[in-house]
Amino acid sequence: MLYRSTRGKASGFTFEEAVMTGLASDGGLFIPNEIPKLPADFLTTWKDYTFSELSLQVLSLFISESEIPRSDLKRIIDASYSTFTNKDITPLVQIDKEKDLWILELFHGPTFAFKDVALQFLGNLFEFFLKRKNSSRKSPTDPLHRLTIVGATSGDTGGAAIYGLKGKENVSVFIMHPNNRVSPIQKAQMTTVLDANIHNIAIEGTFDDCQDIVKALFGREDFRVKHSLGAINSINWARILAQTVYYFQAYFTLVRAGHVDPKIVFFTPTGNFGDILAGYYAAKLGLPVSRLVVSTNSNDIIYRFFKTGFYQKGAAGVLATPSPAMDILVSSNFERFCWYLAYQCEATGKTEQERIDQAGHIITKWMDDLKTTGKFQVSPASLEMARKELDSGTTSDEDTYQTINEYYSVSDSSTKVKYLLDPHTAVGVHLSDIMRSELASDLGYSNYTSVCLSTAHPSKFVEAVEHSLKPDFPEFDINPLLPEQFVGIFNKTQRCEYLPNDIDAVAKFIESKVDY
Ligand SMILES: *Cc1c(COP(=O)(O)O)cnc(C)c1O
Repeated sequence: MLYRSTRGKASGFTFEEAVMTGLASDGGLFIPNEIPKLPADFLTTWKDYTFSELSLQVLSLFISESEIPRSDLKRIIDASYSTFTNKDITPLVQIDKEKDLWILELFHGPTFAFKDVALQFLGNLFEFFLKRKNSSRKSPTDPLHRLTIVGATSGDTGGAAIYGLKGKENVSVFIMHPNNRVSPIQKAQMTTVLDANIHNIAIEGTFDDCQDIVKALFGREDFRVKHSLGAINSINWARILAQTVYYFQAYFTLVRAGHVDPKIVFFTPTGNFGDILAGYYAAKLGLPVSRLVVSTNSNDIIYRFFKTGFYQKGAAGVLATPSPAMDILVSSNFERFCWYLAYQCEATGKTEQERIDQAGHIITKWMDDLKTTGKFQVSPASLEMARKELDSGTTSDEDTYQTINEYYSVSDSSTKVKYLLDPHTAVGVHLSDIMRSELASDLGYSNYTSVCLSTAHPSKFVEAVEHSLKPDFPEFDINPLLPEQFVGIFNKTQRCEYLPNDIDAVAKFIESKVDY
């Protein structure tokens, strides 16, 4: 399996190249040359597979055996999920029997955010590729291959990346976060990791300032090459791939729970469009999925796209909501979805190659339009296809708080089960409620199963949870619900460098810490 760029100029990349570089040299994102085929009998043969077994099957479709031998891939996958505290890795919990509503808990990894599912895998993948390169050096005195990861975080990505990469040989990690603008628990999660290869930098500025510094450092060609800069943000193809697995896992868990031929509507809390894109690929592979619902908060650029066909930045800029991991102006992974629209609905060429080239041109134009005018528009045919593939809804702050309260307030006689939702998950749960009749008329049946992806443990977002519950539960105390790892975290030693919003200061710090 080879990969190409969504902008069309670059193609023929191996999986290793796609993973190690992250972004194609023409500025596009890597996509697989084709969508592979599932085995004809996968619905029966995969039914009782564990998460890791499923992962091996799905990932093998996208990674050539000649690139990573299956036994190595298995080892990487097993190691990646051995750090999860739930035996099912991503368990499914029913919270409303009447509505057949389930929560897919993706937060049982080391940092209690769904990003662990992908970043635990990515860290082990980096390590595997580096080790292999280094063991094939001609002479032991040749310089070692290394990787310097430079990333920015508004909270969750940094922690998950640090836990995915701590202690990895020949990898140095520099994560910038905006000083005083991540939650105390998120900061402590990152800065209490004291491994020598981990470096936290608090920047006097905003998240956008941090991201600008990352981009500027990647833009310094000398610096990028000298230090082999690498990226861990959500456009990395390996992250998308790793996340397709839990859509399969949810399907088979329902089958084992007695659902014959389950008809599933997935609700996916969406920011950078990585998690929902993984569901899109799962469906394209052939997993039976009734609907995928892009669930946004009031930063609703994707929702507005599905209404209008315009992909347009909000005039007000990024809005602060109770679900901060979804507070985005534009969704970087959306470009991949757009490629399929351009290829199928906008390209007019007769041959496959002509259509691929045209799709690349169209994406380049759309992305240029977005940059220069703040928006782009797709054709009616593309919009129609987009709506066939995905649905979308948006949830206000008030409804987010109210939904958390509703599921915590459940009484014993209810068909619901008492459950504490995190605010990101609540965005999807609210939509699963208000979109019921619309979805039923769309699908032509109402006896479907709703699966809401739960992207974080509620204790990571205590403020929003308390705000939701305090009026009715003045005694509410998060402490008994805290995962063990959070207990006493504020008393642990923290290590963090405080730097001004200045590229040179960051570059200098990085040079002083890498010993090569
Ligand atoms: C990153 C994140 C999201 C958004 O996921 P995308 O793949 O960027 O759409 C949602 N919820 C939480 C808790 C997150 O950390």
